[in-house]
This record gives sequence, structure tokens and C-alpha cells, in this order.
Amino acid sequence: MLSESDLIRYERQIMLDGIGIKGQEKLKFSKVLIAGIGGLGSPAAYYLAAAGVGTIGLADFDEVSLSNLNRQILHRTSDVGRLKVDSAAEKLSLLNPNVKINKHNIKLTAGNIADEVKDYDVIIDAADNFETRFLINDSCYFLQKPVVEGAVCGFEGILMTIVPGKTPCYRCLYPDLPKGEPFKGIIGMTAGMIGSLQAFEAVKLLLGIGEPLLGRLLIFDGLNASFRVIDWSKKRNCPFCGENAIVKNSAEI
Ligand SMILES: [Zn+2]
Repeated sequence: MLSESDLIRYERQIMLDGIGIKGQEKLKFSKVLIAGIGGLGSPAAYYLAAAGVGTIGLADFDEVSLSNLNRQILHRTSDVGRLKVDSAAEKLSLLNPNVKINKHNIKLTAGNIADEVKDYDVIIDAADNFETRFLINDSCYFLQKPVVEGAVCGFEGILMTIVPGKTPCYRCLYPDLPKGEPFKGIIGMTAGMIGSLQAFEAVKLLLGIGEPLLGRLLIFDGLNASFRVIDWSKKRNCPFCGENAIVKNSAEI
């Protein structure tokens, strides 16, 4: 199944316990959707393409702007004004032409998200706003799709992996949509760190290796160069997965 050039391209990871030829073939037939091709989505997409994930979906309807470029490393100055999905797909194909890139130049909504995510094995939430994050997590909970959730702010970031039915859901941590605009200050390295860890989580889920952050929340503090991992659990009164859940299907979201 792997070509001669695949064997050379992925040589250094094929030699790892937990990957091997079988794991590499698994990656080749895996599909990951990245929602948001910005600060988190750029490194996540880059590393997944480099690792040989066979199909990568890019969901974003935005255009590249100059103020994106301190962190959104898939895009260049000459890409300003282009669609992010076009700019990103071009770079990923240059890095690894064997990866199939699906461009979803679309705003995710309650009406289209089921169609957009249905063909993918893992969803990486790299959205830049709370509304989309809640939409992705709420929908994927009912669609039984694992979501690798990453978020950054300033010099800090968090990461967790949500597997419906197995881990606490997003609403256990954030019961309601936060009010007001999120703080927008960010230095690129924070997004680079969390975005590449999101790709790492996705590969672990796809290959069934290691210990994904299931029921665990990783907190990264760039200024202190520290990582903390704390356990978190299902909330009894969670509106989605609690004892008396009030939301029973995606139509009620
Ligand atoms: Zn819950």
C-alpha cells in the first residue's frame, strides 16, 4: 500500500514503535478535518500533512489579512487577500503532494455541519470564535465524532481531547457561551505550540497509541515555560451528558 517514496518520506517515523508500516498505512487512509486555518490550524495542518494523514479537510471562509501573519504560518505576505483555504491547500500540497486536501470554503452552521464532518475520523477545533467552537463540539457530541480542542490567549493555551460517550463533553467545562468578545492578543509561538499538540493528539487517536488527553486538560504557560495537566470529569448537571440532560439531539441545540 505504501509506495517506494512513501517509505522514504516517512522513514523516520515508520521506525517508531507504535507506528511502523501498519501505522503509516493507517494514517494514509485517515481523514482529519481542521476547522479554522489560522494560528492553530496552520501548524496542525502542516504537521498532519508532513506525517502523511491521507485526507485533510480545511474549513474556513475567511481571507488572509496582514495582521494574521504573526501566527498563521501557512500564509505568506503575498497571500494577503486570498482565501485561507486556497493559500493553505497550496502550501500543504507543496509539502506533501500525496495528501488529498478538501477545501471547505464555508461558514460552519447548524444546518451544514453534519455534512461537513461526516466523512472525517477526527475533528480539530481551531476556530477563532466561541460560537463556532460550541457548534463544533455540540454537533460532534451527537455525531459521535472525536474533537481535539485547543485554545490560545496571549502567552497561554489549553488542550483537551473529547471523545463522545467516553470523556466529559465540552459543555461539562463550558456550560454556556461566554458573553463578550474574546481577548485577541496572541503571540505566534503559543498557537504554534498548541496547534502542533492538536495534530499530535489526532495522530494518537488515529493510531490508538499513547495516552490522549481524555478527561485531562493540558494548560500551557509560555512565559513560565510550564505545562500542567489537570483531571476533569463529567458534570452531573451537564445539559448534554449529565444525569438529567436537557439536550437530547442536535436539533435541540
Ligand atoms: Zn457534558
